[in-house]
Amino acid sequence: MDSFESARGLESRMTHIAGFERDQLLLLPEAVDDYVDAENPVRFIDAFVDGLDLAAAGFARVTARATGRPGYAPGDLLKLYIYGYLNRVRSSRRLEREAHRNIEVIWLLRSLRPDFKTIADFRRDNRAAFRAVFRQFVLLCRRLDLYGRELLAVDGTRIKAVNNKDRNFTRTSLREFIRAADERLNDYLARLDASDIEDGASAGGARTKNLAEKIEALRKKRGRYEAMLAQLDRTGEDQISLTDPDSRAMAAHTKVGVGYNVQVAVDAKNKMIVEQAVTNQVVDMGLLTQTAEPAREILGIETIDVVADRGYFKVEDIDACEKAGCIPHVPKPQRGSSVREGFFRKDEFRYDAGRDAYVCPAGQLLTPIRHGRLRDLKKVDYGAPHACRVCPLRPRCTNDIRSVSRLENEDVLDRMAERLRARPHILDRRREVVEHPFGSIKQWMYQGAFLMRGLENVRAEFNLTALVYNLRRALNVVGVEPMIAAVRG
Ligand code: SF4
Repeated sequence: MDSFESARGLESRMTHIAGFERDQLLLLPEAVDDYVDAENPVRFIDAFVDGLDLAAAGFARVTARATGRPGYAPGDLLKLYIYGYLNRVRSSRRLEREAHRNIEVIWLLRSLRPDFKTIADFRRDNRAAFRAVFRQFVLLCRRLDLYGRELLAVDGTRIKAVNNKDRNFTRTSLREFIRAADERLNDYLARLDASDIEDGASAGGARTKNLAEKIEALRKKRGRYEAMLAQLDRTGEDQISLTDPDSRAMAAHTKVGVGYNVQVAVDAKNKMIVEQAVTNQVVDMGLLTQTAEPAREILGIETIDVVADRGYFKVEDIDACEKAGCIPHVPKPQRGSSVREGFFRKDEFRYDAGRDAYVCPAGQLLTPIRHGRLRDLKKVDYGAPHACRVCPLRPRCTNDIRSVSRLENEDVLDRMAERLRARPHILDRRREVVEHPFGSIKQWMYQGAFLMRGLENVRAEFNLTALVYNLRRALNVVGVEPMIAAVRG
């Protein structure tokens, strides 16, 4: 027997794992419950939603109507959404499909099969109530000691909106479009004149007709740009988004895209979200206190350390944050003309509160020379003009006379700089803490783009996203059965 024949013989004796014949009668478990094991997260979703006071959370139709066709209980539809977001199924049509074919959903909904419109309407009609559900879960996690309650990292990220970049316009882009349209219009008109001469004044040849159509279309387009520019002037807004009017073009790293700014406060212990908010403000500046303070409140503590990146550096906000019991740690951005020109930075000048003066790198005392205002704050400029004129360090400090300005509440920045000097590693900790939720939400949970339009709708969506991010973390740390026990306990 040659090697080919022996291989054929061996092959004929080998078999693959075979399934049942499709028409064969099987002895399957009798109850749907037998398909869902004790550690299945759907059991927790079921227990958690059953334990919520849905009327207090703001859900509509918690009490069934006495007359008319019975509707679905809001708790069942909420369970479906939490399950869907946990399993990367967010669209109402896909959720409808899961209710027909997914044994976990069949178990969770007790074989209810709402159609996609009912599912979509539920999310739209109850969008404000999802925040209460998120907060109830935070309180549960607090009871389970999942939050360290010592350090919060605050950060923001852009999540894409249902609005293409081509459908977003700023004043600058509109002016540029109008300028380009005018240029092309002039060109078309010149060509039209030339065609008229060539075709003869009354001929109206094909080329002339074609150009006239192009001119008409361009004029209409130009008119639309003009109308949008007038709208911006009227409303005082900086940009217009046509598909989702609430979304804004904003930078994320080096790219600009149209989306929403999602703010989170993350507790360092298990990298779980404590507070989150969606806004269409294009920068993070000014959002520190409004993100950190509700987080401190829900954690039920008097004070907590808060760390954020330099994008949050704004003296009024840092002052408010400290007053709200959130001890800020925000590095100072290196900006301003002195930094640009490579002169001594402001932090190289030491403020001496006792003498109300700055000590410069040459050891000279800079005293108040001017009083003014910045935004709503009093501002004092400090300088030592006589010393500067003869200073050997002047080439490294100024082109003329150096002055250093101080705002009325700048003590808060001095205290913060002191804290950062004492704990420089807190800034690395920030990155590590906040990158986990944003990385998981965008990469692993595939929730880096909103499905709905409008600020209130995307807020509802992100409440669900943040809830299931926390839910997954909590289930990993605690386990399904202890979590269920905590809900029922
Ligand atoms: S130039 Fe003026 S402010 Fe600068 S180091 Fe010299 S004395 Fe101090």
